[in-house]
Amino acid sequence: MLIDSHCHLDFPELATDESGVLARAKTAGVAGMLTIGTRLDQFDKVRAIAERHGNVWCSVGVHPHEAKEEGQSTPDRLIEATRHPKVIGIGETGLDFYYEHSPRAEQAESFRAHIAASRQTGLPLIVHTRDADQETGDILEDEYGKGAFPGLIHCFSSGPEVARQALALGMYISISGIVTFKAAESLRTIVRDIPLDRLLVETDAPYLAPVPKRGKTNEPAFVAHTAAKVAELKGVTVAELEAATTENFFKLFSKAQRAQAERAACA
Ligand SMILES: [Zn+2]
Ligand SMILES: [Zn+2]
Repeated sequence: MLIDSHCHLDFPELATDESGVLARAKTAGVAGMLTIGTRLDQFDKVRAIAERHGNVWCSVGVHPHEAKEEGQSTPDRLIEATRHPKVIGIGETGLDFYYEHSPRAEQAESFRAHIAASRQTGLPLIVHTRDADQETGDILEDEYGKGAFPGLIHCFSSGPEVARQALALGMYISISGIVTFKAAESLRTIVRDIPLDRLLVETDAPYLAPVPKRGKTNEPAFVAHTAAKVAELKGVTVAELEAATTENFFKLFSKAQRAQAERAACA
């Protein structure tokens, strides 16, 4: 039983074939998935997908790309959205200096508002960070100093220092299909050093399909390829990797009910 800890089921590539995507996930042994909020004006759609399926949960957040248009300066609207039982996390949020679609200061302000929402609700923070290792680490450590919050770095692609900082703060690290790419040797080196009890796996679908599906539209079923690669790097069986990452998911996202995934897997 696998969990895809980060996908975008509301994006058109997947939303147009929702029942097919869910059916193929089930066949591949993916018993649950977390579909991620990226804009508040799209949140109703994201939440509706989670409402339709017992084994799909959602998060609420504003992607750093959208900070310019929708960035939050307070946690209020995010906290309000978490009252729904299927909303189990805050994000995705963070810093993206690779694309820099939004000014850095606005990304940082919105990031801190999301952290405040995570701290106040106790729901995990889902961090997106790209080409912003130093600034992401600084904000996480600074905010952690004001009060603890649970969280993870999703689609990990940073350097070893961010991994070290995140682990020291008690955070988890989620690995995407990038780990299967030929050029990702430095990521594989980092994954070998991340403790098994802090690892999650994800697709970030519809993007970043893992080898051997590279170039195709990614979907939750393909997380199995990423899990197989991570198992190989950790020197454990696929079954052990599945058990550990599923355990980690429900430990971190404690609002999600494991029984719903188990029911979906057996149905
Ligand atoms: Zn992301
Ligand atoms: Zn994402």
